[in-house]
Amino acid sequence: MIKLSKRQDEILEIVKQNGPITGKDIAEKLSLTRAALRPDLAILTMSGNLEARPRVGYYFNESYESKQQAKKFILQKVKDYKALPVVVEKSTSVYDAIVQLFLEDVGTLYIVDSKGHLAGVVSRKDLLRASLGNHNLHELPVSVIMTRMPNIMTINPEETLLEAAKKMIHNHIDSLPVVKEVDGQKNTYLLLGRITKTTITRAYLEMMENK
Ligand code: ADP
Repeated sequence: MIKLSKRQDEILEIVKQNGPITGKDIAEKLSLTRAALRPDLAILTMSGNLEARPRVGYYFNESYESKQQAKKFILQKVKDYKALPVVVEKSTSVYDAIVQLFLEDVGTLYIVDSKGHLAGVVSRKDLLRASLGNHNLHELPVSVIMTRMPNIMTINPEETLLEAAKKMIHNHIDSLPVVKEVDGQKNTYLLLGRITKTTITRAYLEMMENK
């Protein structure tokens, strides 16, 4: 993505408001000569910000702007969008886990061990599956049905929303725990947050509405 100069930004604004507009008219609005403006107009057309039509003038390229904005959005960091994780202990019963899911209005619970390290994940489907079985849900601990380490897909706070989206889509999962690795201990993570398909969709919508 190229960084535009102040004058190039001014030209874009003029074309946005007045396009289609000729080079001569843009120059007039900026009190510059047509020749002085030529390099900036060349850059803006080559980069795709503006479109030039012979004998008509310059148009603002909206699809280019939307694409740039989408790119900027998806390259933002996970740390700026993560939400709070809902956490239960390994010994929590499946029954209580289901209650938690409703109370907290989430689709996934994270399970931590006594040291606070990430031990497992239970999703809606895991809990439904357990409910269909012939179990006593008050007696069955979530640790028996959870997806456990080292099979959990995780993400670091410094990674991008693009990487989070890819991991969720490619692994057919709705959310990722945002984690920090405990120094020198393989597959041992502190849980910092969660990122979900909803988090990303909501952030995208907010960006589009505040445009
Ligand atoms: P749902 O049950 O609503 O379909 P998911 O699609 O997130 O929720 O979960 C599908 C399966 O993947 C479940 O068995 C769940 O335990 C597991 N799972 C969920 N999140 C992760 C993750 N981050 N890493 C590995 N497995 C996960």
